[in-house]
Amino acid sequence: MMSTEPADQLAVRRANLSRTLRHIRTAGPGSRAAIAAATGLHKTTVSSLVEELLSRRLVRETGLERSGTAGRPGRGVALSPELGAVGIELNVDYLAVHGCDLTGRTVVERRVSFDAARRDVEGCLDDLAEAADQALAELVARDVTPVGLTVAVPGLVDVARGVVVVAPNLGWRDVPVVSRLAKGLDPGLRVGVDNDANLAALAEFTWGVAAGTADLVYLTGSVGVGGGAIVDGRLLRGADGFSGEIGHLPVEPVGDPCGCGRTGCWETKVGLAELVRRITPEFAYGLGDGPIPDPQERIAEVRRRLDARDPAAVDAVTGIGRWLGHGGAILVNLFNPRVVVLGGYFADLADHLLPAAQAQLTRLAMASPAARCHFVASDLGFTAAARGGAGAVIERMIDDPTTVPATG
Ligand SMILES: [Zn+2]
Repeated sequence: MMSTEPADQLAVRRANLSRTLRHIRTAGPGSRAAIAAATGLHKTTVSSLVEELLSRRLVRETGLERSGTAGRPGRGVALSPELGAVGIELNVDYLAVHGCDLTGRTVVERRVSFDAARRDVEGCLDDLAEAADQALAELVARDVTPVGLTVAVPGLVDVARGVVVVAPNLGWRDVPVVSRLAKGLDPGLRVGVDNDANLAALAEFTWGVAAGTADLVYLTGSVGVGGGAIVDGRLLRGADGFSGEIGHLPVEPVGDPCGCGRTGCWETKVGLAELVRRITPEFAYGLGDGPIPDPQERIAEVRRRLDARDPAAVDAVTGIGRWLGHGGAILVNLFNPRVVVLGGYFADLADHLLPAAQAQLTRLAMASPAARCHFVASDLGFTAAARGGAGAVIERMIDDPTTVPATG
């Protein structure tokens, strides 16, 4: 029985399960013999590991697969679409939901408009809980059993305690998101919360336009501007997990007031609220009390002005592009990334923003042009952080497959 095995044997077993699962994810479906050959594990060990992964529903058997040119073909093993995860991003003006199975196939994806400014914390958490219930039920309806859920929030997050320490643009301070959300959910479900830019950076690193780039910085282009840095293939978190508050880099000593209470933060120069305020002031944030538009609707209106070559609009977007390059140069000086991936509205308006941004980056970065760093527009849109949230659950599942209960 496993419970009588010494602890170190259990740890080895767990590591081998993870290694096998990770191999199947990277290499695709293969026979037990092929897995043994690629991982260096003994064939009988692989057979036993696969049996356990099958019992935990993490893999499924496929048809016959050849492991090479010689020998009998064996039954193939592939990742199972039976288990899945959900990520939900709660931002100033939208909730983005992404649900996928273990293979990465999207099962649920949507964004709904949401007005954090008009909801108190309890109200926001109610909406979040409702979105979570709905997404989890949709997975189940599609025959995918959810194992976990991660919430993405634009702010400083204490990941270990599941608490949002401060989220200036939401007006949150010390909000226990995980304990509050877990109350109404299946106790077996793993619930987590993390910073939106960190999760989006993980999504970019796994699925995005610069996937696999060991050194990249991701920028969220929403009302707040956050950054997630992947350094040498790992997400940089800092001593308290609070790194990445790039939007609050002080770039202008006497500048506009920021949501964080300081003045002259980078976010006041390049955030979505500033873009809207300068180009389509009649749709500025905080105006009126009608239904709140989705960020994409605001951006579409800005694009109409730009496409009509409205000189004031073109002038404003060029100025924002320059500020984008200014902050980008600071990031390049700090992290020496290969690419700076632009998310949110930065990606939508990349054709208008990039020329000025790239020129400013090249002009201001110390290591330029030797560093060969450039901006690229993300193609994950406003759901990058939600996708990263689901991805974080899957990553934990692969790191320790024994956290998923065996059936039967
Ligand atoms: Zn600030």
